Parts: sequence; structure tokens; C-alpha cells
Amino acid sequence: MTAPAVLLRAEGLTRTYRLPRRSLWGPAGRRYALRGVDLELVEGDALGVVGESGAGKSTLIRLLLGLDRADAGTVHYRDREVRPGPARSLTWFRREVQIVLQDPMSSLDPRSRVRDIVAEPLECLRVEGDHDARVDEVLAAVGLDPQTRTRYPHEFSGGQRQRIAIARALAPDPRVLVADEPVSALDVSVRAQILDLLRDLTTRLGLSLILVSHDLGVVQHLCNNVLVLKSGEPLESGPSPQVLGNPQHPYTQALLSAIPTLPTHTPHPKPATLTKPAAPDSARPAFEAGKPGRRSTPPSTKGPAPPAQRARLRPPPVGTSEDPGPGRRPECAPREGPWPPTKPKSFISASTAKPERSASTPASPSWTRCAKRSA
Ligand code: ADP
Ligand code: MG
Repeated sequence: MTAPAVLLRAEGLTRTYRLPRRSLWGPAGRRYALRGVDLELVEGDALGVVGESGAGKSTLIRLLLGLDRADAGTVHYRDREVRPGPARSLTWFRREVQIVLQDPMSSLDPRSRVRDIVAEPLECLRVEGDHDARVDEVLAAVGLDPQTRTRYPHEFSGGQRQRIAIARALAPDPRVLVADEPVSALDVSVRAQILDLLRDLTTRLGLSLILVSHDLGVVQHLCNNVLVLKSGEPLESGPSPQVLGNPQHPYTQALLSAIPTLPTHTPHPKPATLTKPAAPDSARPAFEAGKPGRRSTPPSTKGPAPPAQRARLRPPPVGTSEDPGPGRRPECAPREGPWPPTKPKSFISASTAKPERSASTPASPSWTRCAKRSA
């Protein structure tokens, strides 16, 4: 059996930014946003990049995608160097690697219709084929009705807008999807749906994923490998069960303990009878004496909910048959079986066997033809 190919390799990535001068004649200082970061993304892998705000995650992504120039270090995609430069010089790379940004409201042009937004990379990257058919195909793949192609971004909810952004990223049929905080700008209620969608798509289409998040719970849900960044420096990396199950660095331990929890939902007690006359105003709970505007609440007879009754905010563990919950789409419900399909051995060699492109992507004949690359 041949080892899966390394798709993206970064070595010694360093990026500094100039600080404002402290005095008129003094030298301008520099701040390290990223210092000596190495990473490898193997075909079929899902790599999570975690760290607090300002850790250098987005800087790393910009360098990986050739959107910014590193002070030191190199990025290679399939052994071909990715050098920032004119848009045309990176067309081959953009067809292979696409990004989903954090805020779909600002990443989608509000004056463009969904069809034009999703077809934009096809036109920019001069992908041949029937663009309208491809737009319909990817809209359906992300769970949107193709009829919505004539609508504008403001006519959608936040979760639906992020689906449009994912559809746009999928349009040129990439091999790697990079998602920079894809659910941070969304309501908690739709986060799990988008995460499930990403997991479903990467499995179904055989995509490799780089997922950036400050939330270890999100990374735990989707990624088989993880890289922890702090102040631009790599602290820990390796298979998720190893790094997150037995974190060596106090910083990783702190990130793990910061995964929020919510108390379980306890239903309101049913009113005893509806025929009982409403209580007079005088019988209603009075405002607390001396604290205008604050309604007194009856003292709770119960203490805080025991830990066992607390629901985790992070998505349910993969491979369980937990109820997807109301409002969750059937296709986004937790999938049976482990993720990733095969277990990684180490950070470098971790990978999953990629399904055959033709088998995994139900592309139309016209699209299959146009997906042939001129790399
Ligand atoms: P993250 O995405 O992890 O929140 P970033 O990569 O955006 O972090 O930023 C890392 C560090 O680099 C931060 O300290 C940030 O202030 C700094 N930084 C990022 N972009 C710039 C820039 N264009 N100019 C100056 N400093 C920057
Ligand atoms: Mg960021």
C-alpha cells in the first residue's frame, strides 16, 4: 500500500510586523506574529490549528495560501513552491486549495446574487464547463435549494450564508478546504450544523481540511490532527486523541478547560389549571425593596446542577447515536463510525485513504470534463 501524499508542507514559517516607533529617532520594533512554524497536511487529513486570539492562526493561513509573504520559511503544495505573487501565477494553486472565512456577511458581496457569488471562482480561475450546473450542484451539496441562486446574501440567515460561502469554496472542485474560524460568527444553535456539514463534505468528497479555531471543542469534533499555537510559536502537535487526551503543555490544558458547558434544559412546570382566575396584582412578586427595577426571585431550593446534568456546548462525540436535536438537518446529523475513517499513527504520517474522485464526487459529465486541470 502506498503512503498517502503530502499535500501541503510548510517549513520554518516566520512573519513579523513592524511596531510603531516609540521615539522620533529610535528604531521601529518588530513583533513576531509567527515564529518557525512547520506543518504537513497529508491527503485526507483534517488538521486543526488552535490558539487564543492573536496566536497567529490567521497569519499562518495567509502564508499557507500565498496571500502574504513570509519573512522566512517556505510553503509547498505537492512539492511545488507556493510563492505570493500576481493572481495568475497562483491559479493552479487556487484550484486546489480554497478557503471559507469567518464572517459570511462580510465575505459575500451583498450586491451579488448567490449564483454569481458561487460562480465567481469558476470564472476567476477560468474553469471550463457549465457554471450554472455546477452552481446548482454545490448549492445542493451544502443543503441549499438551487432555486435560491437568484437571491441576495441578506435574504439568508447566518448559517445559510456560511453554507453559500462553503458552496463557493467547493465550486472549483478543490482538494483542500481551509476554514478560518468558520463558526465563530454564527449562533450557537447553527454551529453544530455547519460543523457536521463540513465533516460530511470532507468525507464524501475526499477533501483534506485545515480548520482554524480558538475553540478546542470545535477542533476535537472535526480534526484528527492538531497544532497548538501560542504567541506565534508552535507548542504541541500530533494526533488529536494524543494531544487533547494527554496535553503536555499548561497552555493546551488551559484551552481544554476553557471549553464551555451549559446547564441542561429543564422544562418549565406545567400550570396546574387554566380555569384558575389570574392572581391580583398585589399577589404578584414584588420588586426587591431598595433595588428598583429588580424583581425578586424565590429562593431556589435546589443547588447548582450536578456535573452529570450539564450538557456540553461542544458538539456530541463522533460516532454516537445521540439525537441530532430539533432543527438539525437529517443530512447533518452525527454520522455513524469513527472520524477520520482510519486512525492516524503520527502527526506526519497520519492520513486516511482518499476515496476515488469519480466515486466520491457525483459530478455531471460536463463538469467531469471541465474539472480536468491544466496544472
Ligand atoms: P489570530 O488569528 O490567532 O487571532 P493573527 O494571526 O490575526 O491572530 O495575529 C497574530 C498577531 O499578529 C497579533 O498580535 C496581531 O496583532 C498581529 N498582526 C496581525 N496582522 C497584523 C498586521 N497587518 N499588522 C500588524 N500586526 C498584525
Ligand atoms: Mg484570526
